[in-house]
Amino acid sequence: MKVFISCDIEGVSGVVASGPHTSSDGGDYQRARALMTGEANAAIEGALNAGATEIIVNDSHGPMINLLIEKLNPAATLISGAPKPLSMMQGIGKDCAAAIFVGYHSRMGTPGVLSHTISGASVANVWVNDILLGETGINAGLAGYFGVPVVLVCGDDVVSQEARELLPHIRTATVKTAITRQSASCLPPEKAQALIRQETEQALASLGSARPWLPDSPVTFKVEFKDFGLAMNAARMPYSRLVDANTVAFSADDYLTAFQGLQAMIALAR
Ligand SMILES: [Zn+2]
Repeated sequence: MKVFISCDIEGVSGVVASGPHTSSDGGDYQRARALMTGEANAAIEGALNAGATEIIVNDSHGPMINLLIEKLNPAATLISGAPKPLSMMQGIGKDCAAAIFVGYHSRMGTPGVLSHTISGASVANVWVNDILLGETGINAGLAGYFGVPVVLVCGDDVVSQEARELLPHIRTATVKTAITRQSASCLPPEKAQALIRQETEQALASLGSARPWLPDSPVTFKVEFKDFGLAMNAARMPYSRLVDANTVAFSADDYLTAFQGLQAMIALAR
């Protein structure tokens, strides 16, 4: 059983401050990345307990060089660095039995800790076929394209709720409860990691009831940018179209191509 783990930082317990915790020049970043590595290790251990024989961990935050490889459980292989064609999902493939999201955050516009969708600076909302999605949904669709179910999302209470609304079979490990966008009630690392270990084991044990999630084709991604200038920049992409002043859409026959269009529009906007 091969297990894929995508690891972001904003949903890790103890991580609450944009900048100090999430930027490589942040004053408390070294602690944040150690906490992130601890939660990744908890998922790895849970997967091993459930019988995983191969584990891929993809570093999925910012420049994607956050996880401390020297502290990572050696049972896993680490994908590090950026850019990557599949971004937060690099390493997923048809040979994976399940995908797990660690340190995930809720979508822009929700009352979750450090909520955003791909780019906090430029993106207001993302829809696929008119379904409003956060990174959990966008990446679940990529897993679904390869026939892989997402079985567990770890993060705050708001991303847990977001995941359950889209993916009814999913398990969640709520390691913190949002108070404001940059404050939360956090489980201490020992407890957060025990919860992730236990939920990973449970999620993989009940793999039979999990289902891949994939929107119907043709797939249309629609991005509402924070202003008209960003949208005009994004609309330079061939085959994209302006839906309204701030919103650009791109359609493709398959989810992977549509996702590549989404990535390209957001990169062009900035
Ligand atoms: Zn992130």
